[in-house]
Amino acid sequence: MTQITDRLEKLHSQIKAAAETANRQPQTVQLLAVSKTREADELRQAWSAGQRAFGENYLQEALDKIEALQDLDIGWHFIGPIQSNKTRPIAENFDWVHSVDRFKIAQRLSDQRPAGMAPLNICLQVNISEETSKSGALPADLPALAAEVAALKNISLRGLMAIPASNDDPQLQRRPFAQMQALLQTLQQQLPDQPLDTLSMGMSADMEAAILEGATIVRIGTALFGPRDYSNHSSNH
Ligand SMILES: *Cc1c(COP(=O)(O)O)cnc(C)c1O
Repeated sequence: MTQITDRLEKLHSQIKAAAETANRQPQTVQLLAVSKTREADELRQAWSAGQRAFGENYLQEALDKIEALQDLDIGWHFIGPIQSNKTRPIAENFDWVHSVDRFKIAQRLSDQRPAGMAPLNICLQVNISEETSKSGALPADLPALAAEVAALKNISLRGLMAIPASNDDPQLQRRPFAQMQALLQTLQQQLPDQPLDTLSMGMSADMEAAILEGATIVRIGTALFGPRDYSNHSSNH
């Protein structure tokens, strides 16, 4: 077994255990493999082990891998910061975008989504810990933003995404995730016609806490591929 196969198996059993603790069906939690800085060949290994959804942060790096892996049936998720002049290739090449935090970006993605493709699945990124340096919409601004985004033609508003301030205490990790679940429930009541079924939250260090509070997509990099090496990484963001 390759190391990636091993780690993937371990992650699936951790997801199953956390879901069962929360009285949830394990298949309601999807594992998104976060593959930033990873070579196309490593994604191919994960694909061979059964992984189908991959998340990328840097546009040019992502486009190179999408091209190199065209022969595989992969669901591509964009999870990094978005500049408004870079929305077109995102609209053309991805299935999901988790990091929309302002209306202008959503509007451009909708306008630039090619005819004939399914609507682009969007999560609104929330600055749940209200850190000044972090991207994401503030919780108080969500209802207005969600209403505007929900009205866009080529967008399917699926839910919310967050990267809370890091915390080593598993009990304290749950707090911002619980707040996210409450925010999603509020939006579901506000916009009953939208398919708001997604909470994208939890990374290698806080996956269990996120699942206990309702995560439906956990975004896992390090625990699947090992520590990242940025030294020879030319980030084209
Ligand atoms: C890098 C990254 C992850 C994965 O983080 P790990 O700690 O390596 O699991 C998840 N989400 C986002 C938005 C990221 O940028």
